[in-house]
Amino acid sequence: MATVGKQRAFVLGGGVAGIVAALSLADRGFQVELIEGRSRLGGRAFTLPDRDTVTGCDNGPHVMLGAYAAMRRLLRRLGTEADFVRPRALRLAYADVDGAMASLSLARGPAPLMFGPALLALRGIGLVDRLRALGGLVAVLLPCPVSWTVEDWIQSRRQRGRPRDFLWDPMCRAIMNAEPDRVGARCFLHTLRRAFLGSGDAAAIWLPVRPWSEILGEPAARALAASGVRVRCGEAVKGLELERGALTALQLADARIELDARDVVISALPWHALDRLLPDRVPEADRLGASPIVSVYFEADREPGLPLEPLISLVRGTPFHFLARRPGEGGRRYAVLSGGGADLVGLPAAGMIEAARAQLLRHFPRADREALLEARARLTKEAAATFVHAPSSDGSRPEPGAVPGVGRLFVCGDWTSTGLPSTLEGAAESAERAVRAVQTHPR
Ligand SMILES: Cc1cc2nc3c(=O)[nH]c(=O)nc-3n(C[C@H](O)[C@H](O)[C@H](O)COP(=O)(O)OP(=O)(O)OC[C@H]3O[C@@H](n4cnc5c(N)ncnc54)[C@H](O)[C@@H]3O)c2cc1C
Repeated sequence: MATVGKQRAFVLGGGVAGIVAALSLADRGFQVELIEGRSRLGGRAFTLPDRDTVTGCDNGPHVMLGAYAAMRRLLRRLGTEADFVRPRALRLAYADVDGAMASLSLARGPAPLMFGPALLALRGIGLVDRLRALGGLVAVLLPCPVSWTVEDWIQSRRQRGRPRDFLWDPMCRAIMNAEPDRVGARCFLHTLRRAFLGSGDAAAIWLPVRPWSEILGEPAARALAASGVRVRCGEAVKGLELERGALTALQLADARIELDARDVVISALPWHALDRLLPDRVPEADRLGASPIVSVYFEADREPGLPLEPLISLVRGTPFHFLARRPGEGGRRYAVLSGGGADLVGLPAAGMIEAARAQLLRHFPRADREALLEARARLTKEAAATFVHAPSSDGSRPEPGAVPGVGRLFVCGDWTSTGLPSTLEGAAESAERAVRAVQTHPR
């Protein structure tokens, strides 16, 4: 039914991309409805309901980089940008399999100038390997063939051994959420350049000091209400009706929304959800693979003597790659996580928790064994945490903006083509771009 007055916009999906899209459409004078299938906003960054075992767990530890410009704009709007420990430069700690600790600490200043001295000061890796790693850092600036995986890049840039253990494997798992042989080198290198070619604070890792639902979903609900956006949580989109190549109606479980010629629909759904609603209409949505993230949260009755670094890369760690803790919570609560999780496939939950304990004992042989073994544990597994950015995904992910051949439909989300992998920043940036496309699109 035609509406008089404001132009209507419907945003499908209430993750980072949907929240950014809805807020900026409302700022531009649209009458906005945001339709989210679950009972809460925040999408893939949220806090699990409390259970007796371990409380205050997110669905997996989420960190940010200082370079996340679009995400920081959203957090400023929500009033939660200060809910992070925000170092002025990159610092990443390492624990090797024998318990040796090291850290890569950039001094304040332009990151490219600070990387060299920081790398040369990295203990746990011999001088020749440090020089090789330095060569690898320079090679990040060079172009590489579209067909290369990160593994191809590591091999051809002579980064095997310690350089890969300390730099490239952890960064590939953290950024691309998959092993180097599965993901494209171009996207990886592009992301490294964005993070590490600017100021030191852009390269810094931000760790949240509060649960993600308090940083994102809950304040977003308040900000959307204040902007006049109607939020319909718990109302999954069940179907999209098309007529002569244009969307004509949205089917919800208990409602049908008819669209008129002026209406705009922005999909901020994950690739697999949009593909179910519009099979074969959005290139690549049906072809992107999914990669899991498995996290085990622990809560010990007494301090187990693990280093108090907020983020530790577990060198040659398998199946878990990082130890994370929320700053300010002390030493009794910590989480280990596996990006990509290939080695965990087929293990039952109890097996994954035991694998996590065993790995902590290997990497931290001086920790209090009894406290680690007795700590309460809670497993979280996100099967489709991110898409897999294979080399063939470059250039074929849809641009954030109008979907060719489907009138009134615009698309955004972390999986659309921003040059970034599946990240909070990719999601926020894609939504800003989709809204700009709505404004410039011929009606
Ligand atoms: C455990 C984990 C750890 C991560 N760690 C990091 C990290 O450290 N740093 C980082 O940058 N990124 C990280 N990510 C990735 C990051 O969370 C995502 O890239 C980002 O949140 C994606 O946002 P989005 O808005 O594009 O999609 P989503 O957050 O998936 O939002 C899409 C929304 O659509 C809804 N939806 C789906 N189908 C329907 C339907 N039919 N009708 C209505 N609504 C529907 C979903 O419920 C969801 O709320 C992590 C992801 C996970 C899972």
